[in-house]
Amino acid sequence: MNERPLLDDVLLRLLGPGEPEVGCDTCFDELDRYVELEVAGADADRTIPGLRAHLDGCPACREEHESLLALVAAEHTPNDTR
Ligand SMILES: [Zn+2]
Repeated sequence: MNERPLLDDVLLRLLGPGEPEVGCDTCFDELDRYVELEVAGADADRTIPGLRAHLDGCPACREEHESLLALVAAEHTPNDTR
């Protein structure tokens, strides 16, 4: 059990309440993690706030997100036996 949700809370506070600004650089850095969380069924939006908003407003990153999501989802899916 290495997960520390509390640490995330503290970081969020340090980064500021409300909507932290996420630029393409941050988006790119965090996208892997964001997608992993999404695929794992975790609350990605809460862990990396602002990223969703950036994806909504940035077609380039949204496209990147979609292809990464498809890739990671495929990796996490066992053999296609259904
Ligand atoms: Zn972007």
